[in-house]
Amino acid sequence: MLPKIIERDDLRAFVEALLADNVVVAPIRKGEKYVFSEVETFDEIALDYNISLLSPKKFFYPQIETVLKFKIGDRPESQAITEASPVIIFGIHPCDIAATWLLDEVFKEDPADPNYLEKRKKAVLIGLNCAQPCDEFSFCRDMGSYNVEEGFDLMLTDLGEKYFVEIGSKLGEEILVEGAHFRDATSGDLKDRQAYQEKKETNFVKRIPYDTKFLPEILEESYDSLVWDAIAKRCFSCGSCNIVCPTCYCFNVTDEVAASAAEGERKRVWDSCQLAEFTEVAGGEVFREERSSRLRHRFFRKGKWLLERYGKLGCVGCGRCDRNCLVKINSVEVYTQLAGEPVQ
Ligand code: SF4
Ligand code: SF4
Repeated sequence: MLPKIIERDDLRAFVEALLADNVVVAPIRKGEKYVFSEVETFDEIALDYNISLLSPKKFFYPQIETVLKFKIGDRPESQAITEASPVIIFGIHPCDIAATWLLDEVFKEDPADPNYLEKRKKAVLIGLNCAQPCDEFSFCRDMGSYNVEEGFDLMLTDLGEKYFVEIGSKLGEEILVEGAHFRDATSGDLKDRQAYQEKKETNFVKRIPYDTKFLPEILEESYDSLVWDAIAKRCFSCGSCNIVCPTCYCFNVTDEVAASAAEGERKRVWDSCQLAEFTEVAGGEVFREERSSRLRHRFFRKGKWLLERYGKLGCVGCGRCDRNCLVKINSVEVYTQLAGEPVQ
């Protein structure tokens, strides 16, 4: 379908039409940072946000989620819980769309995860293109997620007085029909979009001094590198890097029994591979006791294992892990050091 154009002044009316009938979440300002949260008015939306603290992943895969309710006693019973309601996610950036694509692949793998997939099925993703990197931490160009061609229902690109609108799905098409503020893009609009892209290509620079297609081999070669020990000396194993990551999906499962001891709930809660307890198995054995091995594990998942399994890197280069690391462990520096390059 031909791309569309919506004039800048009409965007408000379009979003207000969405707000009238739907739950819309979008980036809003919170102190010095931005978060994705439900909005009630167009004016709450921070269209110019750089990056949100957490990605919209939390709407498909909540930090704490009840997955089962059970009764204990002579006749034990259990009931799987799958809660999902329709939501429009407005303003999601390309890197977070790429991360969602990866999570979709993970959660639909056999055995498929109904909790995630139901929520995803009911979510509409309206993307917002980025003309420039969020800040000095992002390395999405290296990870190939600064542009996305799929994974969204609509993608908006700000061309000044108008937005260029790409349609990525049937659902996106239907929203446009409802919106009625759109016209077909002309050759002039396509030229403006091309000029935007050319500028964008110069704004996003590569920061890792080699092509990331070589990351699996570089990581493989550096399995026993002293770099891991050196970085681990600074790491607190706090797990913040995992918690803010849009592609991390590990969880713990806990059963909470009510005070009556007659019933309870099973919850899944985000977990972190940087915590020693994460690898504790029956009998108390911790199979990644060394902090350096946990750190290495995180980088191997991002740069090698997920790529080998799903065909895309497990990191989208959003920089959230590095931005939130108290001791300034920096992914670009780690990848650079692993290749034996001096860090600038
Ligand atoms: S946020 Fe930094 S200090 Fe904390 S576990 Fe991750 S790398 Fe280590
Ligand atoms: S590893 Fe860091 S840079 Fe990569 S996707 Fe996760 S938070 Fe973003």
